[in-house]
Amino acid sequence: MNIVLMGLPGAGKGTQADKIVEKYGIPHISTGDMFRAAIKDGTELGVKAKSFMDQGALVPDEVTIGIVRERLSKSDCDKGFLLDGFPRTVAQAEALDALLEDLGKQIEYVLDIEVDTEELVARLSGRRICKVCGTSYHLIFNPPKVEGICDKDGGELYQRADDNPETVMNRLEVNMNQTAPLLDFYGEKGVLTKINGQQDIDLVFKDLDTVLQGNTK
Ligand SMILES: [Zn+2]
Repeated sequence: MNIVLMGLPGAGKGTQADKIVEKYGIPHISTGDMFRAAIKDGTELGVKAKSFMDQGALVPDEVTIGIVRERLSKSDCDKGFLLDGFPRTVAQAEALDALLEDLGKQIEYVLDIEVDTEELVARLSGRRICKVCGTSYHLIFNPPKVEGICDKDGGELYQRADDNPETVMNRLEVNMNQTAPLLDFYGEKGVLTKINGQQDIDLVFKDLDTVLQGNTK
């Protein structure tokens, strides 16, 4: 069960990744974790990656792909894996296919959790913070009892600049432009399934799980 999980920020990818990993006992492999592990272990590729990151530079594909190869070669991936945050580009997806072929594997499921842009902006811009105690609220997921007021101390709630809808929208657009060609790539290969992410967490998982059990293939 070799899975690539996709979805824009705010789509609930992390939550669903946890559920898939728990049910199927496969490792959750995120790019960040992979880099951290390679750097911590001081592997040759880890050292290379760190030198780019220390300069604030992007890690080149050949290094990233080398790290992915090392990770996917480990025995805990024998039964499958869940990739999250990789690949990001068609070039990386092609390199992933090539390295998996070397390992006698292939990507079987690409699951894209879809949520309307409007809903994503609402989710991502809903955070409010107390000016007095710094407690964090969310207009949808964890609202204060009285609008604009901290439950604990009556302090005024404010929105961080990063969380304003325009900034959030820009971030989403960058992401969408980046992932569109990748979705086309996997769509043409016939491994892509779009999942409605605009429903209860348990229902999103039910839909993902149905696909993973091969019920819709
Ligand atoms: Zn407060």
